[in-house]
Amino acid sequence: MDSVGVAAAAPDAGPGPAWQSKCPWGAPSTTSISCSLADVMSEQLAKELQLEEENAAFPEVVAAAEGPFITGENIDTSSDLMLAQMLQMEFDREYDAQLRREEKKINGDSKVSISFENYRKVHPYDSDSSEDEVDWQDTRHDPYRADKPTTTPRRGFIGKGKDITTKHDEVVCGRKNTARMENFAPEFQVGDGIGMDLKLSNQVFNALKQHAYSEERRSARLHEKKEHSTAEKAVDPKTRLLLYKMVNSGMLETITGCISTGKESVVFHAYGGNATEDKVIPAECAIKVFKTTLNEFKNRDKYIKDDYRFKDRFSKLNPRKIIRMWAEKEMHNLTRMQNAGIPCPQVVILKKHVLVMSFIGQDQVPAPKLKDVTLSSEDMKKAYYQILNMMQQLYRECNLVHADLSEYNTLWHDGKVWLIDVSQSVEPTHPHGLEFLFRDCRNVSQFFQKGGVAEALNERELFNAVSGLNITADNEVDFQAEIEALEKMNEDHVQNHGKKLSTFSSDGDPPIYDE
Ligand code: ADP
Ligand code: MN
Repeated sequence: MDSVGVAAAAPDAGPGPAWQSKCPWGAPSTTSISCSLADVMSEQLAKELQLEEENAAFPEVVAAAEGPFITGENIDTSSDLMLAQMLQMEFDREYDAQLRREEKKINGDSKVSISFENYRKVHPYDSDSSEDEVDWQDTRHDPYRADKPTTTPRRGFIGKGKDITTKHDEVVCGRKNTARMENFAPEFQVGDGIGMDLKLSNQVFNALKQHAYSEERRSARLHEKKEHSTAEKAVDPKTRLLLYKMVNSGMLETITGCISTGKESVVFHAYGGNATEDKVIPAECAIKVFKTTLNEFKNRDKYIKDDYRFKDRFSKLNPRKIIRMWAEKEMHNLTRMQNAGIPCPQVVILKKHVLVMSFIGQDQVPAPKLKDVTLSSEDMKKAYYQILNMMQQLYRECNLVHADLSEYNTLWHDGKVWLIDVSQSVEPTHPHGLEFLFRDCRNVSQFFQKGGVAEALNERELFNAVSGLNITADNEVDFQAEIEALEKMNEDHVQNHGKKLSTFSSDGDPPIYDE
């Protein structure tokens, strides 16, 4: 990550030249692309369900997520690179708009339409604006793959008697060659060869074809390169622009630097900027940028794929959207925790795959993780009971299991424990929810037992204390088996009734169902 570039985005260069006051490229145009009704319906349904579920706890976050960051007044010209990138993006967007217009012109009302999708500058694959995003499956099909050339019959000639024309006929070949140029990519200008009855010799045609193909490959390489750079660094140009806009809008004062680079995210520290009408920005913020590297997220599929809250949306999303869902998930989970009074970062704003929250720590120094801090035995005991409490609250009030709880994701700040990193947290009735909880319990009890807290329950006792379940198995293997049996019961219930149990119960009572 290039933290210098980010720091340079801060508007601390003082008053700029006069032309700065006027935005040179105006407001970005937004064009929408139509998609199928079914897509819209299910996306909407999922959104509605989720909103309902979150009890409208954080409506303003989503609502405020889109805002006209670039205004004529406060454009910052201190970063030439950023300016160039913004101009380039604007140019690309215009280019795409033009392509779209041409596409429309060509297609008209025709039932069969062609698509210029693959020739757009802002390739849908790395497009970031949800309005013009097309699921990547849709773009796999290449509408410009050359059609099979029209063939002369096997026997090699058509016609009769002296009207026979063979496949080697110069005029026929020439016309055919000219027609075949139509198969070149649309940005490859071939002129109106057909209209003027142009006959291309094989030699010329082959040379042209070679050139067209190498041009096509070059353009593909360019796109590929772009995608790679997105994957390599967490802060690709688009993320940087997103961060820049946050600073530019005054929401953040400065982004000071990187706190942590993990496999799945990069976290920055920032000083908060001005409050808006409806939001107070914390003095210090943490910015979690979810890495747009796809590999890292593949093995986390199971957390989100089986989370019923996201189920409808998962199947037809492109990788970029899935990553955004991680950020979204972390936001919702943090909000639930906040509402339950669990010490955790407070959500400031979510923008695409970038989550801004309050900073746990002081003066740019993040609070230490429990694994890195040496606590007195008294504090250690206090921390233990607090975590036990938080796990119960999380389970009962938030209906969540952390699913990655350990001394790595708990910070010691202000004399208490703060929970972080909840993008993977799931509801207890998630198909593997109880297994995740058991793993959490194992981490916690091992850490505190090793840390000399005599009162620390073992993992099985802790599991029962948190879940309220009464699993009696006295060894790990049987215990785990019972957990899996409970999960299976829930799954079977989903299969049979189309909905999950609202809670688990193992003490002989009939399970409580959702109604
Ligand atoms: P990852 O998925 O990469 O583990 P985390 O959410 O755990 O992401 O963040 C990584 C690190 O960044 C944490 O271990 C912590 O040190 C720091 N961090 C994350 N969020 C905050 C925050 N709100 N305040 C202070 N530090 C934070
Ligand atoms: Mn973490």
